[in-house]
Amino acid sequence: MSVPFSSLGSRVALVTGGSRGIGQAIAVELASAGATVSLTYRSTPVGADDTRKRIEELGAQCLALECDVTDLAAVEAVIRQTLDHFGRLDILVNNAGTTRDKLLVRMSPEDFDVVIATNLRGTWNFCRAAIRPMLRARWGRIVSLSSVVAASGNPGQTNYAASKAGIEALTLSLAREVGSRGITVNAVAPGFIETDMTRDLPEGVVEGMRERIPLGRLGAVEDVARTVRFLVSEEAAYITGQVIRVNGGLG
Ligand code: NAP
Repeated sequence: MSVPFSSLGSRVALVTGGSRGIGQAIAVELASAGATVSLTYRSTPVGADDTRKRIEELGAQCLALECDVTDLAAVEAVIRQTLDHFGRLDILVNNAGTTRDKLLVRMSPEDFDVVIATNLRGTWNFCRAAIRPMLRARWGRIVSLSSVVAASGNPGQTNYAASKAGIEALTLSLAREVGSRGITVNAVAPGFIETDMTRDLPEGVVEGMRERIPLGRLGAVEDVARTVRFLVSEEAAYITGQVIRVNGGLG
């Protein structure tokens, strides 16, 4: 689990989209390292409740809050509630994300806007709302979820790939803004991870993808969660403005 790294015992972490998939695994992983966790969900309160229970069973504290990441006022309210409840905010993980895959000729402006608003603007909203307490504390860790397609592109994902490339550029820029205040800002770019987002793909597509992955398997949510756990640790204090690829070697 989390033994090789120092404890996150005094840290408060906020994980967006903690109701399922990768976000749920990150929230549980940080809690297992001792962190107090505030998590957000949008449409899956049952999933958020499940995450909260798993965290409390580990002996850690957890607050589950409903929030649409596209709504800056709602995002600011989540940061306020987290500070009111736990007194501090040290770690932000921008995980919430969505897809609306279609070839460009069939993609509507709404398909484009929803994906950009959720993935890119949602990440910016949370960075904007969380940065002040981190600046005041002169310590902070921000990790945002990108994707392998930000660098490679993918047919059917002009909206999603652009949103993730935007997250990477946001990460590099913010890292330069806040590095002198002890805040690191990094992105994690997963390859093909087994979650709801990839579960509905046709078996042929999944098989084709597996054959292209040098490590010969799809990723597990824990593969991503453990990387995030490292990036928010003391041991990663000199890593900032980086995109860490967790993709089994998929180029
Ligand atoms: P997932 O299973 O589809 O879960 C998405 C999460 O985001 C859910 O918790 C969902 O909340 C939340 N969410 C979506 N739209 C939201 C909104 N407008 N406001 C607030 N929360 C919202 O996704 P996943 O596969 O775990 O992916 C997590 C992250 O990793 C995403 O950023 C994704 O792009 C990235 N990623 C995934 C893969 C992969 O292979 N799975 C690969 C590369 C990158 P509710 O459940 O409450 O609706």
